[in-house]
Amino acid sequence: MANLRFEVVAEAFKKRPLDVMAPVERPSEYFGKNVFNRAKMYKYLPRDVYEKLVDVIDNGATLDRSIADAVAKGIKQWADENGVTHYTHWFQPLTEGTAEKHDAFIEHDGKGGMIEEFSGKLLVQQEPDASSFPSGGIRNTFEARGYSAWDPTSPIFIIDDTLCIPTIFISYTGESLDYKAPLLRALHAVSVAATEVCHYFYPDVKKVHSNLGWEQEYFLVDESLYSARPDLVLTGRTLMGHDSAKNQQMEDHYFGTIPERVQAFMKDLEIQALELGIPCKTRHNEVAPNQFEVAPIFEETNLAVDHNMLLMSLMKKIARRHGFRALLHEKPFDGINGSGKHNNWSLSTDTGVLLHGPGKTPEETLRFVVFIVETLMGVYRHNGLLKASIMSATNAHRLGANEAPPAIISSFLGKQLSELLDHIEKADKKDLFNMAGKQGMKLDIPEIPELMIDNTDRNRTSPFAFTGNRFEFRAVGSEANCASAMIVLNTAVAEALTDFKTRVDALIAKGEDKTSAIIDIIREDISTCKPIHFDGNGYSDEWVEEAMRRGLDCEKSCPVIFERYLDDSSVKMFEDMNVMKRNELEARNEVKWETYTKKIQIEARVMGDLSLNHIIPVATHYQSQLTKNVEGMMRIFGEEEGKALTDRNVKIIREIAERTQIIKTGVEELVAARKVANKIENEHDKAIAYHDTVEPKMEKIRYQIDKLELVVADELWTLPKYRELLFIR
Ligand code: ADP
Ligand code: MG
Repeated sequence: MANLRFEVVAEAFKKRPLDVMAPVERPSEYFGKNVFNRAKMYKYLPRDVYEKLVDVIDNGATLDRSIADAVAKGIKQWADENGVTHYTHWFQPLTEGTAEKHDAFIEHDGKGGMIEEFSGKLLVQQEPDASSFPSGGIRNTFEARGYSAWDPTSPIFIIDDTLCIPTIFISYTGESLDYKAPLLRALHAVSVAATEVCHYFYPDVKKVHSNLGWEQEYFLVDESLYSARPDLVLTGRTLMGHDSAKNQQMEDHYFGTIPERVQAFMKDLEIQALELGIPCKTRHNEVAPNQFEVAPIFEETNLAVDHNMLLMSLMKKIARRHGFRALLHEKPFDGINGSGKHNNWSLSTDTGVLLHGPGKTPEETLRFVVFIVETLMGVYRHNGLLKASIMSATNAHRLGANEAPPAIISSFLGKQLSELLDHIEKADKKDLFNMAGKQGMKLDIPEIPELMIDNTDRNRTSPFAFTGNRFEFRAVGSEANCASAMIVLNTAVAEALTDFKTRVDALIAKGEDKTSAIIDIIREDISTCKPIHFDGNGYSDEWVEEAMRRGLDCEKSCPVIFERYLDDSSVKMFEDMNVMKRNELEARNEVKWETYTKKIQIEARVMGDLSLNHIIPVATHYQSQLTKNVEGMMRIFGEEEGKALTDRNVKIIREIAERTQIIKTGVEELVAARKVANKIENEHDKAIAYHDTVEPKMEKIRYQIDKLELVVADELWTLPKYRELLFIR
């Protein structure tokens, strides 16, 4: 009997790197080749239309429908020159990933023929048949249909023969059914709030915007091996598999050279990403074997989110060309590091001054401190909600394991910043000022050394670490849409800044000097948000106890954590900042719970099938071989000596019998638990039941299977093993 596993392993070993031809131009020349960017707008649009569109993009002016036709015409011309035949409204539904429905440009010409057309109307709005996208009941309750609407702030791009138009996706009654719509509102809120606070320091600043630089981690697995692992194919992770004798303990992968086949893939990915305007800059191996990272230069948050979505789908496509599968799941393999997506976040102004960064004057330092502290205030007030924003059935495997951020949100600030905040909070207020004669009060806040920027003393265990000129939100999952985290973070900071300004203005209205008022309020806030600040080891058990004492959210159950979206403080924040209403939050939570349940349900089914169809038959087959051997030996040597000589085999026969029995009962219990959970109508309660009663049973089954993998003859084992999945090039 041929074992498929050996065939696919042999196949994987034979593969050679693909030849990737780089374009003849330099990257700076082909960057954005497939994007309708400023330069193309300038080239393809009439001057007045160009100017109006730029005003929409830069200053948020409302889109004048009268220019839509002219814009569409210019885009169509560009598309024609690039062999494009179809167009699609590209959007981000609540299932992770993106959605698109392609339409050809053709229309009836009314004379029995066809004409190619692309009007402003088609550019601006579409009605995708969206009945199969999750909406958490919004569409039932409010309105049967939804529509997609053009987001002109994210440029249109071409993939193959299709023009892709980034859009938001909302119901007819205005509820958001996607990630982009609330993200745009959150970004608007933080922009408005931050600009106003910025005016205390720089009255000339026109606009503050939020930046995001993501670092995407992923695994590559050979495609042949992947196809022989039904669990990888159906769930994105291995549900079983014993540790490889060697995994990441040598720490040799991180600094190792990138294997050739992988290098060819990366090169291909980078070229195509650059052509799509994604400014990929960094690539390297990650900690675990076969784990890698790609990161672009940071961009405005909305654009960065779109680019990440685009890169993830590009990555999957290009991996297949190279005979790989890209695994974006947060925890594809047990026992080695999972994958995350650090979200580097900051605010900056139109004048280029980064709001995070050391100040050269005391005023600048105060401005810096204000934005740092108000960010911490947002994170502190909504730490449970922030955790909810990065939580998913898949990311749950990563959080809390001693490799990724713990399931408690806290912030690392480092020694210098901590000391600065301490000083401002505790110093006698008089000492923060110099009385400087005629000039009146002068601030006396110590300068922050430039050194801080290079502060490499980074605490890798912190989920929200300050790293010199930005915060790094490290808990985001590799598979997630960054928008989820960015919606909550930006809204929380918007709320904190708004609240800060209200209180400062109240003091100023009472006659207090502006700087003095800012200092009063910031001192208050430094003290209030203290519980979120933690520079110690986030993986330690003491931290969990300490965090509980501090009142931070320590919940670990994914479906329970989702409840944070419906806390009064969360609903109030989203409504006050005009980002989402209660009914939208409720509907979105329904989707979250439903998705959670479905993911665990599929895993449980695959686990059951593989146990009964793969594992038990293979183990029993080996067991009969051993039994025959023992019987034969007893025939030849007599019962007593035969038994003694086959002592080890008898033990294994027993072990297999016991383990397969436990697996069989385990699967029965798993099915029974699913049946009970499936009867629950309420999505919230069903998800909790899946978490509490279904998921733990899979762990027990896995334990037995992994032990069997160690005793069953290698030649009979059908599923590619960890050592093959992880070390083959
Ligand atoms: P690492 O954290 O692995 O050392 P880098 O320093 O290269 O990585 O930065 C990671 C990401 O952070 C990159 O996408 C980079 O562009 C981004 N980044 C750097 N500065 C900022 C900033 N001020 N705001 C947002 N993102 C930033
Ligand atoms: Mg980083």
